[in-house]
Amino acid sequence: MESIDKKAADILERLKVLRTGHFSLTSGLHSDRYMQCAKLFENPLESEELCSDLSKRFSDIDLVAGPAVGGIIMAYEVARALGVRNIFAEREGGKMTLRREFSVSQGERVLIVEDVVTTGGSVKEVIDLLRESGAEIAGVGAIVDRSGGRVSFGVPFHALITTDVSSWKEEECPLCRDGVPLSKPGSRAV
Ligand SMILES: [Zn+2]
Repeated sequence: MESIDKKAADILERLKVLRTGHFSLTSGLHSDRYMQCAKLFENPLESEELCSDLSKRFSDIDLVAGPAVGGIIMAYEVARALGVRNIFAEREGGKMTLRREFSVSQGERVLIVEDVVTTGGSVKEVIDLLRESGAEIAGVGAIVDRSGGRVSFGVPFHALITTDVSSWKEEECPLCRDGVPLSKPGSRAV
């Protein structure tokens, strides 16, 4: 199910974070949408505005955490809007861990954020990691949920934009069939 925050959609389109057209993805699949969330965080004022909007959907948060790399700046911005601490988790030998003397206290209410959620794999790893450390997971926030709302974390989950993604093998791509010019942006697509 799609759900779109109008202001967020306008900003993401203006900053070329979300683009529509005909794209060749790094996976080799073709899609009618492409997204580069780094282009949101390239712009501090818009990042601040959207992270602040997202932060209002949660309450009683003690700490914001994000998975590196996509969640680092976002966790900082959301935490600033809430006036709380922020940390990030990163992979070491393939396993999500807290380094840099980051830690959580027993019972701390943590909001986990990631810019784009697709399968939610990284977020789920951070949830497990912080629960093992005694934190209470208060919710998950994202700028874009591109699972079309299918992903579930077992805690309240809010995204500014929930969108369903279509992608096809080249030989089955309707845009190729219609002769729409193909772009290769060279990164992930929606
Ligand atoms: Zn195509």
